[in-house]
Amino acid sequence: MLTCQCDLCGRQMERDESRYEMRVEVRLANKDRALVADDFSADNLGAVSRLLRGLPHGEPAPVEPAGHHAVFDLCPSCCRRWRRNPLGARPAIDPRRG
Ligand SMILES: [Zn+2]
Repeated sequence: MLTCQCDLCGRQMERDESRYEMRVEVRLANKDRALVADDFSADNLGAVSRLLRGLPHGEPAPVEPAGHHAVFDLCPSCCRRWRRNPLGARPAIDPRRG
């Protein structure tokens, strides 16, 4: 019987087994949206400045593609984990704990 592999944990799944197809699409944000104060934060400007200063003289800045998409097969267990934390973010550090 044909199998496919979970793209996260690597587990082999039978073709008749429940599996999930995850489609990811990332697009360049619409420039026409209203800007907010965070768009002008020092961190963003500093990151751009460091990037430009690190380029060899005369070399153009790298340009991200306008969009990217990918398709992944997930086993049920990995799908549940993904739904709980889709960006794989670590829990924020609680400043009250030091
Ligand atoms: Zn998995």
